Amino acid sequence: MNILVINCGSSSLKFQLIDSDSEQVLAKGLCERIGIDGRLVYQAAGGEKEITEVSMPTHTEAVKLVLDALINPNTGAIKSLEEIDAVGHRVVHGGEEFTTSILIDEEVIQAVESVSDLAPLHNPANLIGIRACQQLMPGVPMAAVFDTAFHQTMPEKAYMYALPYEYYEKYRVRKYGFHGTSHSYVSKRAAEILGKPYESLKTIVCHLGNGASICAVKNGKSIDTSMGLSPLEGLVMGTRSGDVDPSVLEFVAEKENLDMQQVMNVLNKESGVYGISGVSSDFRDIEEAADQGNKRADLAQEMFCYRVAKYVGSYAAAMNGVDAICFTAGVGENSGMIREKICVYLEYLGVKLDEEANKKRGVDLVISSSDAKVKVLMVPTNEELAIARETAGLLK
Ligand code: ADP
Repeated sequence: MNILVINCGSSSLKFQLIDSDSEQVLAKGLCERIGIDGRLVYQAAGGEKEITEVSMPTHTEAVKLVLDALINPNTGAIKSLEEIDAVGHRVVHGGEEFTTSILIDEEVIQAVESVSDLAPLHNPANLIGIRACQQLMPGVPMAAVFDTAFHQTMPEKAYMYALPYEYYEKYRVRKYGFHGTSHSYVSKRAAEILGKPYESLKTIVCHLGNGASICAVKNGKSIDTSMGLSPLEGLVMGTRSGDVDPSVLEFVAEKENLDMQQVMNVLNKESGVYGISGVSSDFRDIEEAADQGNKRADLAQEMFCYRVAKYVGSYAAAMNGVDAICFTAGVGENSGMIREKICVYLEYLGVKLDEEANKKRGVDLVISSSDAKVKVLMVPTNEELAIARETAGLLK
């Protein structure tokens, strides 16, 4: 079955066409600068990357250009649009409405709309992508795959904030968690690699990219995760602060004469390793600067690793033990240095890295030493494949 996976942002649209039987990527790419000017990046399997500057006033034109590229007689991956069996849409926030992926109908769209105030930057963009695909591919089944759904198994004691209960009752203020598709994919993959039943493992997944979160997966279910109502909570990230004392907001607002929106912008876009280092939000730049003696870049790195280690420790406590710790996403898959810095904190748990294995990058691999009590794995995430699998699964 050919599944078109769409990840729609406010001015961008990433896509992959995946054959869900062979799990091969037939073509992939992205549309950037939608509504500004427009650029299409397209690459068919085995082909060259093509970049075309082309006007995209709205997401509908962007989807149309993607479809045209997919059926282009010279470089297209398929002959006609009839070869697209279904579309899988990444949807960021499913609120409490959605505990699994779901086939999209008008009722689902209404429900996604109804939780949009929880993700005002993301859900409306996801919905625009869905509408554009519906318009251009009428009758093709479409699925919504939510970042939050995997975490809907968290117990109340983990997802509630200790705020007046009425805020939960009135507005559903609670922890939701994100990166669920990745945490689910990676924890399952870890069980496969270890040859253990998924339902019997206590796994901690560290999704460390520009956005970063950790998830405790017990017996195949998310029981806690570091992101919250929004992706701002938890780890130190590229530009997000992660956990801070909420009093800081008021204090800084007063000192800097900022309103709430401006303070939130600082926490989301000007903080994290970028804010601490003053160098970059990209961990490669931070590592390079730290190597050259930049103290603040070094501090940013140390703070990042320390926070990850503290969360791993707290999730080991939450699960009363841990069998496997997984590293994934841009930093987790590529930086042996960061993995090592984190694992040094975890020796008390029985974590011991195999130095040679930890030098590798971007492959499925056990990187703990053979006598380590807790297994450590590097598992490249693949959210697009996970979305294609979910979509195909719903159609079977
Ligand atoms: P997101 O999807 O949240 O944008 P990714 O999972 O793509 O994030 O990760 C992006 C991050 O991964 C960037 O900060 C980048 O610097 C980092 N990264 C990629 N390769 C390396 C590497 N070799 N060493 C350290 N960090 C890396």
